[in-house]
Amino acid sequence: MKEKKNSTSSRRSIRMILISIAVVPVVLLGVILTISNLRNLRMSMEVKTSDSLDIAANSLYNTYSMISPGDYEMKGDILYKGDLRLTGNFEVVDALKESYKLDLSLYYGDTRILTTILDENGSRAIGSRASEEVKHWVLKSNKEYFSKNVVIGSRRYYGFYVPMLNRDGSVVGMAFAGIPASAVSRSWNAGMVKSIIISVVALLITLLLCLTLNRQITNALTAIQKYLGGLASGNFDMKMPINVRNRQDEIGDMGRYAIEVCNELELKITTDPLTGLLNRRACNAKLQKILDHCNKDETARATVCIGDIDFFKRVNDTYGHECGDIVLKKVSEILKKEMNGEGIVARWGGEEFLVVFPMHVDDVIPKLNEILWKIRSFKFNYDGYDPFNVTMTFGVNGRVWDMSMDEVIKEADRCLYDGKETGRNRIVVFDGRVVLSDGTVTTMKQETEQETEKIKQAMQS
Ligand code: GH3
Ligand code: MG
Ligand code: MG
Repeated sequence: MKEKKNSTSSRRSIRMILISIAVVPVVLLGVILTISNLRNLRMSMEVKTSDSLDIAANSLYNTYSMISPGDYEMKGDILYKGDLRLTGNFEVVDALKESYKLDLSLYYGDTRILTTILDENGSRAIGSRASEEVKHWVLKSNKEYFSKNVVIGSRRYYGFYVPMLNRDGSVVGMAFAGIPASAVSRSWNAGMVKSIIISVVALLITLLLCLTLNRQITNALTAIQKYLGGLASGNFDMKMPINVRNRQDEIGDMGRYAIEVCNELELKITTDPLTGLLNRRACNAKLQKILDHCNKDETARATVCIGDIDFFKRVNDTYGHECGDIVLKKVSEILKKEMNGEGIVARWGGEEFLVVFPMHVDDVIPKLNEILWKIRSFKFNYDGYDPFNVTMTFGVNGRVWDMSMDEVIKEADRCLYDGKETGRNRIVVFDGRVVLSDGTVTTMKQETEQETEKIKQAMQS
């Protein structure tokens, strides 16, 4: 018992399993792709920043080279480029700042001589020194240098340094272009937000798709589960949803196999194997439905008949059991054919049949008489014996309202018994009418009197 409880509690629904299979990898993949996207975005932004700083710094260097040939030279406290005085002359750096939207500086050695960068007091940050690293790479090694950590006053800058050479090839200073790290962060943040929004939307769409597919699969599986569950409890009226039946995949196959199993099983459970008619159990269920319908709907009609082959034991005794089976099959075939898919034809047991006509008893009598005529007229030719035929007796009950199924059948059975008692090969109706084999209609009263008379005469002789 304890074990059973454990196994129930560890049971997981296929819906949850599929959701975890679909959702976990999608979310993981989404997170990994977003992180790698952001990394790439950051790297490409840095490259872009470095490139534009490179262009601006070189542009500063080249502009001075163009407007004033000659070397950089410090005369007293004043820096010259050829004849052009540079110290205190901010014309070029200001103009380039205007067009590049970047800050520019000019160093002589490691000292900032000209700049567009303002300090906390709003004056130009002149006189500050380059870091040891910058001096090493640019002034000593004559290399361009990009730094993400140029501190000027209290501000951090992204900066690009270009060595400036005199005509003899010696490095005398540096052209610098910079942008505040806060400006880079602002545009980086905007890019990051955009990228995250795109990733989240893509992730949500993928998840939605996964969950929709997931729901379709689990709904189909649940429908099959319900169908088989119904089958397990003996319900053959379960319906398989059309979308499961139409699926062209393994789940669709499962659904169609389940329907086949259900139909096959229903056929086996409800059919008499010898005659192919409904068996007694299935007949009971169908008859109950018809009686319920009659009780609900006043216009509904039903007449319940029980028929029995006369002297059937003699057939078995004379021609053998196998021939008896052939007779049962033929009689069943005629009954089924004549009912033409309407009402019920069932093997009630042995050589007895239950037939329900969906019509008033007055309409049933001529129809049943015709069927009995067809059965009587059929000549059986078996294994070289003389041809023979069989007759049947029927009890007919046309009173089916407000009675239990047992009572309805009992009444038909009583009529059948009367028919057997008064000479067989006839139809006895619940209201006392009797239809003989030649079609004449008489009454039970007359028939009983005649039968009593016959017995008397027999006793006298
Ligand atoms: P009655 O006119 O009074 O009905 O007489 P009967 O001989 O038809 O009735 P009885 O009940 O004496 O015999 C019925 C016989 O039907 C006995 C039984 O062996 C036979 N029978 C029942 N089921 C089958 C079957 O499936 N195949 C064959 N061949 N015989 C069957
Ligand atoms: Mg019989
Ligand atoms: Mg019988």
